[in-house]
Amino acid sequence: MDKSNCIYVAGHRGLVGGAIVRRLEREGFTNIVTRTHAELDLTDQAAVYAFFEDTRPAYVFLAAAKVGGILANSTRPAEFIRENLLIQTNLIDAAYHSGVSKLLFLGSSCIYPKMAPQPLKEEYLLTGALEPTNDAYAVAKIAGIMMVKSYRRQYGFDGISVMPTNLYGPGDNFDLTSSHVLPALIRKIHEAKVAGEPSVTVWGTGTPRREFLHVDDLADAAVFLMSAYDDEEIINIGTGEDVSIGELAALVADVVGYEGEIVYDTSKPDGTPRKLLDVSKLRGLGWSPKVGLREGIAATYEWYVAQGTR
Ligand code: GDP
Repeated sequence: MDKSNCIYVAGHRGLVGGAIVRRLEREGFTNIVTRTHAELDLTDQAAVYAFFEDTRPAYVFLAAAKVGGILANSTRPAEFIRENLLIQTNLIDAAYHSGVSKLLFLGSSCIYPKMAPQPLKEEYLLTGALEPTNDAYAVAKIAGIMMVKSYRRQYGFDGISVMPTNLYGPGDNFDLTSSHVLPALIRKIHEAKVAGEPSVTVWGTGTPRREFLHVDDLADAAVFLMSAYDDEEIINIGTGEDVSIGELAALVADVVGYEGEIVYDTSKPDGTPRKLLDVSKLRGLGWSPKVGLREGIAATYEWYVAQGTR
C-alpha cells in the first residue's frame, strides 16, 4: 500500500474499523474513504456497486459486520446471518468487479468447532460442529471466508481472511443487552462501585476461558497483514493467552477499584468452554501484540469513564 492509495475501511464507526482508520492515519495514509450507515447501506447491493464504481478504492478493509455478545447472538440469530451475509457478499463481489487490488476480510474465532483441540489452529476450520449460541453468525463468517477463497481461486482476486480473537478497547459497545463480556464487566463493576452495591452479577459459571486482544493491536496486525500476507488460508490474530471469566472479573474489579463480591448467574449460558487461538503462523511472520491485558483494560476503563456513564 502506498500512502496515497485510496483505502476503503468498511465499518469505520465500529470498534475494529475505527481502530484501523486511526492506525492508517497515524502511518500517514492520506486517502482513506469511509461511509456512515446513513450514507451507504451495505446490505443494499445496488448502492454498494454504485459506491465502488464511483470511488474505485485500491484496498478494502472489510470490518463492517453485525456483531454482538452471547445474548444478542443467541436471541437474534436471523439478523446476524442475514445482515452479515448481505454485507460481505455485496462488498466482496463489488470489490472484485471494480478492480480492487486487495481486500482483507475480518472473520472471528467463533468459526472454529466448539470442541476443537486448543489452541485453535487455522486448519481446524470445518472439522466439527459449531457452538450453538453463535452458530448463525459463525456460518455467515465461514461463508465469507469461502467466498474470498473462491474468488481467489476462480478469478485470481487478491483477498485474504484474518480471524481475530475476542476484541476490546475504546469505542466498544457497552450496552448490557448486546455487548461482549469485557465491556459488560467494566460497566457493571463501575456502576456497582459508584452505587456502593455489595455485589456484581456475572453470567454463567465463570469457568469458560477467553482470549482478549486490544483493538489497537488488531488494527496493527490487519495493516501489517495487508502487506505481509497473501494466501488463501485463513490466519489467526490473537495473543495466544487466555483467562477464565472469573479471573477477568477479578482483574476488572481490581482495575476499577471495586471490593464487592462477584456472584454468578448460572441461568445464563456459558457458551463455548474455551476459545484460544494458535498464533504461531502470525508470530512466524514477525508480528506480536504490544498491549497487555491489565494495561488495555485500564485504558478502556479510562475511555469509558471519559465518555460519561450514560
Ligand atoms: P462469546 O465469547 O461469544 O461467548 O461472547 P461474550 O463475550 O458475550 O461472552 C463470553 C463469556 O462471558 C460467556 O461465558 C458469558 O456467559 C460470560 N459473561 C459473563 N458476564 C457477562 C456479561 O455481563 N455479558 C456478556 N456478554 N457475557 C458475560
